[in-house]
Amino acid sequence: AALPFWLAAALPAVAQTIAMPDVTQISAKPITVAFLMPENSSPRYEQVDRPEFTKMAKLADPNVNLIISNANSDPDTQLNQAQSAITNGANVLVVDPVDGKAGAAIVAYAKRNQVPVISYDRLIQDSEPAAYVSFDNTKVGELQGQYIADHTKPGGNVIMIGGAPTDPNAFDFRDGALSVLNPLVKAGKLKIVYSVMTPDWSPENAFQETQQALTRLSNNVDAVLAANDGTASGAIRALQAVGLAGKVPVTGQDATNGGLTYILEGQQSMTVFKYVPEEAAAAAQLAVSIGATGAPPAGLINAQVNNGKIKVPSVLLTPVVVTADNINSTVIKTGYTTLAEICVGA
Ligand code: BGC
Repeated sequence: AALPFWLAAALPAVAQTIAMPDVTQISAKPITVAFLMPENSSPRYEQVDRPEFTKMAKLADPNVNLIISNANSDPDTQLNQAQSAITNGANVLVVDPVDGKAGAAIVAYAKRNQVPVISYDRLIQDSEPAAYVSFDNTKVGELQGQYIADHTKPGGNVIMIGGAPTDPNAFDFRDGALSVLNPLVKAGKLKIVYSVMTPDWSPENAFQETQQALTRLSNNVDAVLAANDGTASGAIRALQAVGLAGKVPVTGQDATNGGLTYILEGQQSMTVFKYVPEEAAAAAQLAVSIGATGAPPAGLINAQVNNGKIKVPSVLLTPVVVTADNINSTVIKTGYTTLAEICVGA
């Protein structure tokens, strides 16, 4: 069946070309979708993913029942949340895993209960999820690396404050950045003088790591490649303490209000904007369609991503660089946030 007109009107352009199963048929047999979020280090989950997923799931099937939880960075809590969602009647799980490897136990448990799992934003490893929705995470890292390549003084010292080692995306971000930076390092144009990952993506850890790097290098730091806006905020606090904030390029990701505020103030240089409503829409459509018919809606899958066990049918969306120059034409224009919120910060 074609996409109902009321759903087409509400969804981002990319989602409008796909065919959804007829929701009036689905509504005869209501389905229950559980949406399991990983943590609160980044504001995106409670501020954007939760409300957008809720809205889009209800558009895809007005009779859908939703169970939504946040594991607060604890993989055991997330497994419990998955088990209790299935006990409470979930027919489909949409899981953003705290830990990409530990998430395999969720997929295995769900499989024993004939419940398909959609891997959300982070790819669950070594297991058989029915589908995966994310942004092109290697591309995110490439955009960050390219920014550093273009804005660091010749021969400069770059420090890398990466994401959580339990998050497979963190490795994609780092690999993407290194694919741009390593050739410059080899050519003697830049130095990577410090590189760490940040447990739980904690801004406080990122602050301490940056402080330690600055101390070890006697403040000779010319660029900070921070993996997201939260780690960037920790790095910026450490740079502020030694008078370097605003003087060296600092990357980020997520277009958070806090990150965008730092960009307007000149303390952070860029962020990578991922239009989460589009990600939530794709996940909601996959969940409703797979829950009702066992198959993804036609035309939505655009990639196959290997998770160590299978090639997972995937939807990969495109990230966009945001700097002070294009805030208006990107995050403001799409309604992702408002200037008023950026000026207040978050
Ligand atoms: C997400 C980022 C987020 C980070 C920390 C990653 O998996 O892709 O958007 O900043 O987790 O929550």
